Amino acid sequence: MSTDNCIFCKIVLGEIPCRKVYEDDELLAFHDIHPVAPVHFLVVTKEHIDSMAHLDTRHAGVMGRMMVMVHGLAAQQGSTDGFRIVCNTGRVGRQDVFHLHVHVLGGPGPLPGMIARA
Ligand code: AMP
Ligand code: ZN
Repeated sequence: MSTDNCIFCKIVLGEIPCRKVYEDDELLAFHDIHPVAPVHFLVVTKEHIDSMAHLDTRHAGVMGRMMVMVHGLAAQQGSTDGFRIVCNTGRVGRQDVFHLHVHVLGGPGPLPGMIARA
């Protein structure tokens, strides 16, 4: 796993600025630079993990904590009546940044349908 040229590692280290939503020892949340919904932030592990496909049981704790926290952060950001998490993974998932992150997308209004049917 390479962290040298990883944009999210640079954000974790404070070398690239972000609009922070939340931070603790293991997790950082910040607004997506190109939001696609009224609420759109990312939650990243501070440890560089390439993707969801690179997790193992060592990561169960931090990933569990991430899942448990998301609804509170979404509500804090104004999405009080639900939200969506998206985790693009690998080539098929059209992942662009290979540092594990989940997108948290929210309203106030309902989001569009998940994936347009062809
Ligand atoms: P993906 O890897 O496909 O899940 O998408 C990566 C996401 O990271 C995109 O939604 C980008 O807009 C977002 N992104 C890329 N660079 C930055 C940055 N410097 N700050 C905040 N968000 C970013
Ligand atoms: Zn990284």
